[in-house]
Amino acid sequence: CGIFGVIGVADAANFVALGLHALQHRGQEAGGIVTHEPEGGFHSVRRFGYVRDNFTDPETMGMLPGSIGIGHVRYSTAGNKGQTAIRDVQPFFGEFAMGGAAIAHNGNITNANALRRELIERGSIFQSSSDSECIIHLMARSLQKSIPDRMEDALRRVEGAFSVVAMTRTKLIGVRDPLGVRPLVLGRVGEGWALASETCALDIIGAEFVREIEPGEMVVITDKGVESQHPFRPKRSRFCIFEHVYFSRPDSILGGRSVYESRRQIGVELAREAPVDADLVCPVPDSGTPAAIGYSQESGIPYAMGITRNQYMGRTFIEPTEQIRNMGVRLKLNVNRALIKGKRVILVDDSVVRGTTSRKIKEMILDAGAKEVHFRIASPPTAWPCFYGVDTPQREKLLAATMSEDEMREHLQVDSLRFISLDGLYRAVGEANGRDNASPQYCDACFSGEYPVEPADMVEQGFQM
Ligand code: 5GP
Ligand code: SF4
Ligand code: MG
Repeated sequence: CGIFGVIGVADAANFVALGLHALQHRGQEAGGIVTHEPEGGFHSVRRFGYVRDNFTDPETMGMLPGSIGIGHVRYSTAGNKGQTAIRDVQPFFGEFAMGGAAIAHNGNITNANALRRELIERGSIFQSSSDSECIIHLMARSLQKSIPDRMEDALRRVEGAFSVVAMTRTKLIGVRDPLGVRPLVLGRVGEGWALASETCALDIIGAEFVREIEPGEMVVITDKGVESQHPFRPKRSRFCIFEHVYFSRPDSILGGRSVYESRRQIGVELAREAPVDADLVCPVPDSGTPAAIGYSQESGIPYAMGITRNQYMGRTFIEPTEQIRNMGVRLKLNVNRALIKGKRVILVDDSVVRGTTSRKIKEMILDAGAKEVHFRIASPPTAWPCFYGVDTPQREKLLAATMSEDEMREHLQVDSLRFISLDGLYRAVGEANGRDNASPQYCDACFSGEYPVEPADMVEQGFQM
């Protein structure tokens, strides 16, 4: 998901809408904005679909007055997958002591089931099926004397991955979990401040990138400025390495590093680790593009746009049902026959998950008359599900969970298939010595199976780590 918040600007909702628009790649199912102004209190609009279709008309924006606001773009990873109800769309807000608060959460709470049971037993009334709603109830029940203190209280009970943007009547709050799994950045916009999942959302509103919120840090922003606290026990951070591979936008800066440059470097590493003689390097657009550029630069094999993407389709995998996903590939991608015919083609994609995309693409490329098809994948085999906010399917559906690389090649019927090594990926994101196996610098659980936080709810349901 994508989260955004702003304080100290006139018509905050317009800034939030723009910020969310820049974060649309992080979630396309639904979006919501909550604002606050002294006379009317909290105002909220939550809708299905794109930001540009929901939060541009004057009538809607007129329903969101105030100089403080937060917003969320959703893609479902927890709760009712595939059938998002409007009640599951964030931000959530609740009125309780001291005026209450609204929150927008990116990540996934791994002990949400246990928390929910406990809260319901003690009288909490849940509105949604979302794991994120626990935070609001924990805050409402806390006995602390200020909302930021209540939020600290609440988040100390929560396990898993969370970047949170919250607001009270007068404060904007940003928090990252102790491992810093999901991103969150701080920006300066005129006299005000903004919080966003990624720097690309600061760029769009002309905000200056100030810094990242640190793992385990909480910032409380008022008209007096930014106050920083560290409510959690410090740990070695474990930022999601897949943000670099796929999830973030290439024009964003993560951990002081350009995402585009990391992706290009992945391509360079791939060309060194898995060279092959061929005529063209083609990306599977858009997610494979920077890595394909890197592969071409390092190998000297010409880069070409062998596949065209229809810009009016969303990200395939983010559409939640299997049926839509299956059709999605054809609706979204088409092969440039004139270019491909008779050629030996290297296709670069970011990841193989179920293998449906790769299979369809290979068929389209062969139909177009390619002589050979070589897949190069910009991440290691995805063999484990993510429980921290990226929607990977159950383990059984992951191609790499049940097949070796050779079996996958066979299954996809391509001339060769190679994945970047885990060390190569670490080098590409700036770790010159690769992965520190004793204490890894990133979360890479979907590749390594090493989960930095035990996924308690899943273990309870029988998941075996
Ligand atoms: P597949 O067809 O193998 O299930 O999906 C792979 C495609 O989905 C890749 O081209 C990639 O762009 C996109 N994708 C990237 N990350 C993920 C992820 O975490 N989960 C899923 N399901 N798909 C992803
Ligand atoms: Fe990111 Fe993978 Fe870790 Fe999930 S499991 S947080 S996608 S690295
Ligand atoms: Mg893709």
